[in-house]
Amino acid sequence: MSRFSRVCRRRTTSMALVMTMSVALVSAQTRIVPPKNKYSPEEDVKLGREAAAEVRQEYPIIEDRDIDGYLDELGRRLVAVAPADLKHPAFEYSFTPVNLKEINAFALPGGPMFVNRGMFTAASAEGEVIGVMAHELAHVLLRHGTANATKAQGFQLGALAGAIAGAVIGGGWGQAISQGSQFGLGTWLLKYSRDYEKQADLLGAQIMARAGYDPRDLARMFETIQKESSGAPPQWLSSHPNPGNRSQYIAEEAAKLSIANRPDQSGFARVKARFDTLPAAKSMSDAGRNTGGASTTSVGTIGQPVPPPARNYRTARGGQLFQVSVPTNWTAVSSNSAVKFVPQNAYGEARGQVVLTHGVELGVARASSRDLRQATETLVRAFMEGNPEMRVGAGSSTVRLSGRTALATPLIGRSALGGNERVGVYTTFLADGNLFYYLTVVPDDDAAAYQAAFDRVGQSIRLTDR
Ligand SMILES: [Zn+2]
Repeated sequence: MSRFSRVCRRRTTSMALVMTMSVALVSAQTRIVPPKNKYSPEEDVKLGREAAAEVRQEYPIIEDRDIDGYLDELGRRLVAVAPADLKHPAFEYSFTPVNLKEINAFALPGGPMFVNRGMFTAASAEGEVIGVMAHELAHVLLRHGTANATKAQGFQLGALAGAIAGAVIGGGWGQAISQGSQFGLGTWLLKYSRDYEKQADLLGAQIMARAGYDPRDLARMFETIQKESSGAPPQWLSSHPNPGNRSQYIAEEAAKLSIANRPDQSGFARVKARFDTLPAAKSMSDAGRNTGGASTTSVGTIGQPVPPPARNYRTARGGQLFQVSVPTNWTAVSSNSAVKFVPQNAYGEARGQVVLTHGVELGVARASSRDLRQATETLVRAFMEGNPEMRVGAGSSTVRLSGRTALATPLIGRSALGGNERVGVYTTFLADGNLFYYLTVVPDDDAAAYQAAFDRVGQSIRLTDR
């Protein structure tokens, strides 16, 4: 707008005309209203900060002064021209490059943004990368993550941090459960509705224009992402669904905007060359293997035969927290707050998702209540929120777990192998008030063959937190 005024001033004679035209232009751009949100901006920041710390631990972060500096510069250009009323003073913006091949970028509530190297590889101009960044920044400014949480009844902020962290990394209890049994507890927090997507596109376009970039570059990047991913939908598109006519409405919005002076874009080619000097980018699954198994994404291949539980058992420990006996042919897959034990070919990717078809998981979740039934209900409801196909089975019952009162909640879901799967959720309180859970997953067809093993594993659990 300021550039437009300057241009006009040079050309026109009447100040009144300038004013009229400026006002007309301002009112022409689509007005974006942040959705209802019961959380405070400070809560966004806290949530994002915790999740970002986990991301930094588990992702191959690029530490290169040129690349860091460049990405930071792009980010600052956008923040500088973002609408003042959406820039909450508490927000902490950061822009971090990640050495991953996948064309992906994501931003956490309150400001931390991560951009994969794959995004740069796929982009043919700076405007395309900054377009995706503007879109992500718009999600932050409009506080879409906590707006999602606001919509989810009974969701507790304590559970949110884990859920978000879980959604973006290969570990954490949120994702461990959500992906493990296809609940989607984690994924829905960073998975935006089509309404939110359109908001982020339009606000992103407006911010781009003010920073001196043509919003049509954003549309072009979306087309590239779509094209590069013929076959499996890429991660980015699965959390940012296409509202339809994306390119068209971005072009329409662009036509209403005046694009500020084009900034220096020579950094783009320089940084692309700089990337070539780094060690090769990893894929998500390589990254998992390189973090000490913290986010291993497969044990064999989904769809291949899964061997029955071995007759012999071995003892395993979950940090200071518990001890358990598991069949000797089950492999441990651990993350920060959970350990899965899975037979061969029961954990891995199926149709773009990491799934657990057979096995158990033991972990910790933050409790939403001091009442076990309520805390469990919150957890289970949050699981089901993200997975409409999941339903509660026969109703919960009181059982014993490591000598403590526990709740058993049977669920029924869809197995990645086809047909139904049975999910058992066993919960009890730890001494510190957190919720300990023991989760079992098996397809209906194999349920009988696994029941004895699940019982024996459950009975062997010894909590050692006090
Ligand atoms: Zn989006």
